Amino acid sequence: MISRELLRAAARELEAAGVPDPAYDAGQLLAKVTGMPALELRAGFAEISAEQEASFRALMDRRKAREPLQYLLGDTVFLGRSFQVRPGVLIPRPETEMLAESAIRWARERSLRVPHPEVLDLCCGSGCIGISVQLQCPQIRCTMTDLSPEALAVTRENAERLQAACEILSGDLFEPAAGRTFDLILSNPPYIPGAECDALQAEVMREPRMALDGGADGLDFYRRIAAEAPGHLKPGGCLMLEIGYGEREAVETLLRQGGAVSVRTEKDFSGIPRMTVATYP
Ligand code: GLN
Repeated sequence: MISRELLRAAARELEAAGVPDPAYDAGQLLAKVTGMPALELRAGFAEISAEQEASFRALMDRRKAREPLQYLLGDTVFLGRSFQVRPGVLIPRPETEMLAESAIRWARERSLRVPHPEVLDLCCGSGCIGISVQLQCPQIRCTMTDLSPEALAVTRENAERLQAACEILSGDLFEPAAGRTFDLILSNPPYIPGAECDALQAEVMREPRMALDGGADGLDFYRRIAAEAPGHLKPGGCLMLEIGYGEREAVETLLRQGGAVSVRTEKDFSGIPRMTVATYP
């Protein structure tokens, strides 16, 4: 079979199954199977062997059943680096890159005055935030925590593959960091209201619910973080949080009530308030 013909038919099949970006996904899956660039496969006349076609069909069936593309490929790119992902861990989102970028800027500035700023990444998932900050700002000491053993295994693999010297701890939010203080606390916690978690896009429903479900109003983790962060921050420390749709006011209020001296929220590239930054005395 010729690659462009195979891909045209495959894109139609994915489209019929309701897959949002059918031509792109078909190209990525065939690229995974053949080791050839997707663009070349789509435009060209590469001969696909029967064996490759069978492997491609198997991946296509899973994609038609709306398994996320990134789980099938086994990795995704975050801030220019490849992170391993698989079922059981949240897939890094492009809108989360702004949290990591802000953290990198803050940590670099802090490191002009503090030799080794200590950074804590709560609910680290694949590890994409903490590992990116550690690699871009090697003078920091980054600690990452998560409650999910599946996520922690992926964090460890990513830290090892990317050679990021992070401390990775198992436990609920601040619990593994009891008695310790940090210069910067980061988190992309679960923030989708519980009831909405039953009606998400088919692909998102394949991701771990514990990484998405923020309780009845989506704010459970912000309540706990707003209350506990001040006890884990060094003087002049900073807290940066990703927030969900429509949560800006509630999160800002929680942080002010918790003792933050300045609180601001930045919009993502879609114009949605996405990241709240709080500083403490
Ligand atoms: N951004 C994710 C989504 O839209 C949610 C991640 C989270 O709850 N932190 O599916």
